[in-house]
Amino acid sequence: KFSSAHRLGFGSANPTSKIPLGLKRKGLRIVVTGGAGFVGSHLVDRLIARGDSVIVVDNFFTGRKQNVMHHFGNPNFELIRHDVVEPLLLEVDQIYHLACPASPVHYKFNPVKTIISFILLQNLITGLLQACLAKRVGARFLLTSTSEVYGDPLQHPQKETYWGNVNPIGVRSCYDEGKRTAETLTMDYHRGAGVEVRIARIFNTYGPRMCIDDGRVVSNFVAQALRKEPLTVYGDGKQTRSFQYVSDLVEGLMRLMEGEHIGPFNLGNPGEFTMLELAEVVQETIDPNAKIEFRPNTEDDPHKRKPDISRAKELLGWEPKVSLRKGLPLMVSDFRQRIFGDHKEGSN
Ligand code: NAD
Ligand code: UDP
Repeated sequence: KFSSAHRLGFGSANPTSKIPLGLKRKGLRIVVTGGAGFVGSHLVDRLIARGDSVIVVDNFFTGRKQNVMHHFGNPNFELIRHDVVEPLLLEVDQIYHLACPASPVHYKFNPVKTIISFILLQNLITGLLQACLAKRVGARFLLTSTSEVYGDPLQHPQKETYWGNVNPIGVRSCYDEGKRTAETLTMDYHRGAGVEVRIARIFNTYGPRMCIDDGRVVSNFVAQALRKEPLTVYGDGKQTRSFQYVSDLVEGLMRLMEGEHIGPFNLGNPGEFTMLELAEVVQETIDPNAKIEFRPNTEDDPHKRKPDISRAKELLGWEPKVSLRKGLPLMVSDFRQRIFGDHKEGSN
């Protein structure tokens, strides 16, 4: 059903699986939608380094060519400007579906397009299914869902079995309900048409290549501290989030894709911080004199978020390795370079 690498049972896509001595792992053809974005571009780096051929499909709404430019000229890399709401027939082994604005500022910018793009996810999966039915290819589809499916959770920490507490008519609904719909579509294609699927529920992730001005809290605080502006804390700053470094997420996504379990799996770092605590870590890391400025909070802001990752630990053998205090300086170097165009040593 899968590529010859899968059928032969060796050189499988599993980076951790044992390849018989003397046999080289066969590269896979992999599509990464949203591959020019923050998370996608780090995933592409890992897949290319592993020896796979990668096709990035991106409309550059929030992504940037600079994130993947270092692969230009590599015969194993291809970049297609395409909006995933339009049909696309793909003959590949795996599809990582990340295309979607992820920051509240971006997904609220055109909420109708946001929710429609999830509904039109069927175009992507249908394309895959057509290819399967034509017996040309049997691909695996991984959906990057989100902790937002839990809404403003009444269970803490959140387990995958929790159905969530989402406002269906709020300003965040285009994203939250959109991702919930995407999970539904993914599972219905799996149950109804036998499409091989995987679902990841990603918790707040940060790292190099995040959009500098995308409005998310980590990118805001880091950029503000570097520019000597006050750190903007929304509301009373007591709401919590759990922040995951991007390399941990990429490892989790790859393990999920290669493993035998559909999910959904929470992929997040259980280290939980209030926004005021996050501001303190940013002060410690960048500028102890950075001021804090309180601003009104946004509507429907979830009060707390923390993943229960027992399922991923047990079934994927995965857990995050990079703490916030270790990961933040790695992001700061990248932001410093992009904001000031240089790297001042000893300043992390
Ligand atoms: P990002 O905005 O950096 O990347 C998204 C990419 O998708 C961008 O390159 C953008 O240009 C592209 N894109 C958006 N709409 C598209 C469309 N219609 N057609 C083609 N390309 C399109 O965001 P990210 O943080 O890298 O997030 C990647 C995925 O992970 C998203 O699906 C997001 O919902 C999910 N996620 C991220 C986080 C996080 O904290 N970063 C948390 C939960 C879920
Ligand atoms: N937030 C903040 N200051 C900012 C941006 C965001 O205090 O400059 C808060 C926001 O109100 C929310 C938390 O940080 O409670 C996380 O926001 P973000 O947009 O990063 O992610 P999400 O809400 O999607 O988890």
